[in-house]
Amino acid sequence: MNRNDLIACHDCDALLRKPRHWAKGSARCPRCAALLYRPSSIQLERISALTLAALFTFLIAQTFPIVELDLNGVTSQTTLMGALVALWNEGMELVAIAVFCSTILFPLIELTALLYVLMPIRAGVVPPGFNLVLRAIQFVRPWGMIEVLMLGILVTIVKMTSLAHVIPEAALFAFGALTLMLAVVVLFDPRALWDIADAIAERQTSDAARQRDMPPATGQGTRAP
Ligand SMILES: [Zn+2]
Repeated sequence: MNRNDLIACHDCDALLRKPRHWAKGSARCPRCAALLYRPSSIQLERISALTLAALFTFLIAQTFPIVELDLNGVTSQTTLMGALVALWNEGMELVAIAVFCSTILFPLIELTALLYVLMPIRAGVVPPGFNLVLRAIQFVRPWGMIEVLMLGILVTIVKMTSLAHVIPEAALFAFGALTLMLAVVVLFDPRALWDIADAIAERQTSDAARQRDMPPATGQGTRAP
């Protein structure tokens, strides 16, 4: 028996054979009735929509100012990128690079890579470089730290209120929404996509085999009665 065909129930550890056509419906553990798989089509639709929405929110969060400071009539506002440039100019290049990677680069890679695999998979096509992209998602995922940035911004705002008048701007709300969206997106296990890609490949091979076995002259459904 191939070990890749086995899955363990996350509730009772029962070792079960992986359902062959799990894309068609949900699967439950026969011993404890825990839900092993949801219908993948519903899950795919939901996670694709959420990833697309998260990408738009990400763009809003990066382009608009986060807060505006009003100190005795002198106002100043900044975007995340502006804050990074300021860090760089202050001689804190390493900090600027670390913040850039964890709050801009890695979340952007994760969202675009997820969309790159989700959109073709929804249409029943496995995109080129599928395995590599899934591995890249799993590599960058732990390094995306939008939620840490969000906490940092909130703590800074609370501290700044004693020094200046702080006006929240659009990107602050976008970062808040993005934190919630990413919390749901990371619940999605990209390994499920490997199973779906396997099912697509299996279906394509069986379709190809069926067409090979069929006599070449009979066009399916197009023949006149
Ligand atoms: Zn179980």
